Amino acid sequence: MTSKSMVESLVEEVLAEIGSGDEKLREEIEKDLKKMLDYGVPPEQVKNTLLNKYSKEVEKKIGDLAGDEKKVGLIARVLSLNHRNVVVRGEEEKTVYFGFLEDETGTCSYSIWQEPNFQKGDVIKIKNAYATEWQDAKRINIRNVEDVSKTDVEIEIKREVKEVKIKDVKTAGGRIKVAGKLLSMREFDNDGQKVFRGTICDETGCSLIVFWKDFKVKENDCVSLENVYVSRPSQISVGEESEVKRIEKEIKVPEIPLSELVINFNNITTRGRVFDVVKGEVTRGIITDGKISIPFTSWKELDIGDGDVLLIKRCGVRRYMDSMRLNLDKDATIKKIEDKTLAQVRIEEKVSRIAEIENSGTVEGFMIDIKEPSGLLKRCTECNRVLKDDYCFVHGKIENPRIDLRVKGLIDDGSDCAILILNRALTEELMNKKMEDYEKEAKKAMSMDVVLKDLEKLLFNLYRVSGFFKQDEIGRTLIATKIEPIDIPVKEEAEKLLAERGESI
Ligand SMILES: [Zn+2]
Repeated sequence: MTSKSMVESLVEEVLAEIGSGDEKLREEIEKDLKKMLDYGVPPEQVKNTLLNKYSKEVEKKIGDLAGDEKKVGLIARVLSLNHRNVVVRGEEEKTVYFGFLEDETGTCSYSIWQEPNFQKGDVIKIKNAYATEWQDAKRINIRNVEDVSKTDVEIEIKREVKEVKIKDVKTAGGRIKVAGKLLSMREFDNDGQKVFRGTICDETGCSLIVFWKDFKVKENDCVSLENVYVSRPSQISVGEESEVKRIEKEIKVPEIPLSELVINFNNITTRGRVFDVVKGEVTRGIITDGKISIPFTSWKELDIGDGDVLLIKRCGVRRYMDSMRLNLDKDATIKKIEDKTLAQVRIEEKVSRIAEIENSGTVEGFMIDIKEPSGLLKRCTECNRVLKDDYCFVHGKIENPRIDLRVKGLIDDGSDCAILILNRALTEELMNKKMEDYEKEAKKAMSMDVVLKDLEKLLFNLYRVSGFFKQDEIGRTLIATKIEPIDIPVKEEAEKLLAERGESI
């Protein structure tokens, strides 16, 4: 038995999505729906099946795709055909075939999960596909190999290619001609096929670039690229049909504002003002240009402090959780500079609730627990893991482990709690004691417990903490870049309460 109201609302939803109120159609849909529900098909699947069956296929040109078509047909030339093996749901290996299609109006990507019955260069008629949109680029998803047939239809593609500057690549679309300097190039193996990904720039900006075959160009080459296409807003795609020439040209590497950075940019130049700088084996902090603030990490110790304005060359942009992070690797150069505008910008220190924060920010909460291992601990000299009885679970017994000091606490702000990590520098600052002093104390007492005991002073105090949030199976972790105690004005609070009640102390 299925409830009447559920059937009714599903029918309504299906009719609304296919944009019809036809009574005869309503009856048909209702009949199909009841049958499937009675068979025990889950309602969501029932809906999709019905949408698939009853929506009218629309014929479209690539340039007219909206990216949400549920049933679309088109005629296009296959520009490229690649494949990749992927593991589905952690076990089964499947092959996805993908590439680009083009017609008179533009290009889009496509994918199919079965061995295609077409080849690169074929003009094909596709039925029953659905369109999606990813990073502003449209994709045609072919449901079934039987939905594709070869056709003799002529597709007139104007071979005239627009010459564009790199800053205009993201809005160019279609085929373009562009020249620039390859700031970085990395080789990837795409199932036996060499693919090169990198960053290209001209005087006006930077873009990601992918070479689908080896054109024998390398990092620092200046190249002219003809008949390439823009596969995503900030990616130039160079395929077999493209023309690649090395050119002699001096190209000045432009500065890219922080707010225009794109994940995977490499060897680029940018500038900003830094805050929340924490020094240690890695130097971390936040860099801002007033429009955007992003975390940065340097793998070497830097002589910088809060408020410095930096010009950074040869840095990279990485994905960090759901956002981006500026990576200052060993090749990066960092220079303190004068910049009147940037010297004015600061990071808005807004206190957020733990439950709402995404990547980085500032929270206020009580330290409600100190967890082990906290205090003095030993780390693996190979991988920095915390050792247990001088053993690293990867590298075995470690002879001269590195001694470190940290706090692993639990902070709670009423909305949620998070594990709070304070590194050595922050712990020393907060406890007003050096690691060496703790080492002496521990030696004297012949036990590490004295350190833990001392750290317990932090319990049940209120702190304002800035840092980065990490989410994993265990829960949320806040890696602090800054911490300061907040004095609770106990007396004033009490006075206020009493005054509200018309009493006095
Ligand atoms: Zn190790």
